[in-house]
Amino acid sequence: MRKGVWVKNLVIIVATLGIFLSQVVTGTAAAASMTPFGQERFAHAHATYVITTKSAYYRGVWQSAIKAWNATGVFKFEKSHSRNAQIDLDTNRGQRAAAMGDDVGLTDYWARHYDMVAVLCALNPRLMHEFQYSRADEVHVAEHELGHAMGLDHNPSRRSVMYYENRSEGIQKVDIEGVYERYLTPAGEAS
Ligand SMILES: [Zn+2]
Repeated sequence: MRKGVWVKNLVIIVATLGIFLSQVVTGTAAAASMTPFGQERFAHAHATYVITTKSAYYRGVWQSAIKAWNATGVFKFEKSHSRNAQIDLDTNRGQRAAAMGDDVGLTDYWARHYDMVAVLCALNPRLMHEFQYSRADEVHVAEHELGHAMGLDHNPSRRSVMYYENRSEGIQKVDIEGVYERYLTPAGEAS
């Protein structure tokens, strides 16, 4: 009798592990769903930007990210030379870079009643250099920060430019859908 109980318990344990493993496999294989968005957005699906970093190299990185998002057609970043542009694209050095900790990019924004008023996006060149980011990786970080600037949140899937630790992915269909839906949905409502 005792032996019979032990065998029964063993079977249960194996079966449980089997289900666990199949869930892990299913979870990994599942396609990413639409990138979620928060309550804040610009009044329209366009905004002006100014690149304020003094580095010619990082001006190019920001320009590549802008070009990639503009090519999707869901949002228009309009170049400005004015300091009054809605979005400021910069790089952090010294104390400000140190304050970023482990973040290779950071976005701060100011909103009034869920309407974005001003956004500051900054890259952390020292950290990206330390972790040997390629230029393509750096453009992905810039694309991620611009995603926040438009109102996107993080996507829990690795197959999104908005994955919180993204490095290798560029703008995906789920991210384009997220921006599209963000600007169909009134400010103050999240996905
Ligand atoms: Zn982020």
